[in-house]
Amino acid sequence: MKARLVSTRDLAPEVRHFEFEVPERDDFPFTPGQFVSIKEDVARREVTRAYSIASAPDGNRFALCLNRVQEGLVSPRLFALALGQHVEIQEPLGYFTLRHPERPAVFVATGTGIAPFRSMLLSALPKGAVITLLFGVRYARGLLYREELEEMAQRYPQFRFMPTITRPDEFWQGPVGRVQTHLETALATHASTPDVYICGLKEMVDDVRAVLKQKGFDRKQIVYEKYD
Ligand SMILES: Cc1cc2nc3c(=O)[nH]c(=O)nc-3n(C[C@H](O)[C@H](O)[C@H](O)COP(=O)(O)OP(=O)(O)OC[C@H]3O[C@@H](n4cnc5c(N)ncnc54)[C@H](O)[C@@H]3O)c2cc1C
Repeated sequence: MKARLVSTRDLAPEVRHFEFEVPERDDFPFTPGQFVSIKEDVARREVTRAYSIASAPDGNRFALCLNRVQEGLVSPRLFALALGQHVEIQEPLGYFTLRHPERPAVFVATGTGIAPFRSMLLSALPKGAVITLLFGVRYARGLLYREELEEMAQRYPQFRFMPTITRPDEFWQGPVGRVQTHLETALATHASTPDVYICGLKEMVDDVRAVLKQKGFDRKQIVYEKYD
């Protein structure tokens, strides 16, 4: 199936929001949190990479949030796409989805790991889901979708947005350090034990899972997606 690039927006240095449409379909259904696979021909070899959908279901459109990986095989090619060009995609897949929307949840993301959470937040918050988002990046300028997330926190009192920065500048007044440092505080925003969803690179995901296991979390309460 082909997807056509309809617009892009730079979110931070080396991070871009991409909007695609699927021209052969009126509808492109998926469950928030799922990913699409993009196939590229690289030196006559077919290479496939997964990308979490960053938008809520919306007709035949979907959005991605991509980091350009230096020397990467596929991500630099996607950054080089011109508007109107097509990529080859497969049907959305994956189990990194909101399992129990009625239960309180903590989302833990670093970098473009925010993508599936944006999709989940856009569709679950209007239905009343109770969520705390702990989002870690290096620099304040790397806080992807910051304005939008702050607006969501204003609009939905049951949503708490906790950004944290490892390399703050003099203007940053919020929490400092890795997401691991603030996990306890994020968990304590809920009166009962929340489900925890984690998305980002392996090292962070494994660290957070280890802390949760030590705290006695049941495996079923921890849902994660690793990008590498
Ligand atoms: C389920 C799933 C969902 C994903 N969703 C997203 C997404 O929404 N946005 C996104 O930007 N990426 C996402 N990824 C990562 C993506 O699939 C690719 O791995 C990434 O774009 C690198 O591919 P590449 O061909 O450019 O680099 P490759 O040629 O595969 O080289 C990657 C090398 O760079 C390292 N690396 C450094 N930074 C990253 C990074 N951020 N991700 C992966 N590898 C890294 C890897 O360890 C590896 O050695 C997802 C991965 C999975 C499995």
